Amino acid sequence: MLITNKPFRNEESTIIHELLHLLLWEYDTFSEKIILKNCEEFKGDHIKYMNKLEKTVAKFTTIFLNLNKKNG
Ligand SMILES: [Zn+2]
Repeated sequence: MLITNKPFRNEESTIIHELLHLLLWEYDTFSEKIILKNCEEFKGDHIKYMNKLEKTVAKFTTIFLNLNKKNG
């Protein structure tokens, strides 16, 4: 997928990251609804959940980028 011939930042990483959010969307929204039954949005456990989600997506992004480099 070519977005630009003059990259302004790491587009590949950004695209993979956002695609992984789509892949996890159903799991993410299901989990978030359960968490929000006992917590206010953007507070406490909800913040912790979002941080863990971002860390997980970031780790998978790194794995996919490394796979792509190995497989050329
Ligand atoms: Zn993200």
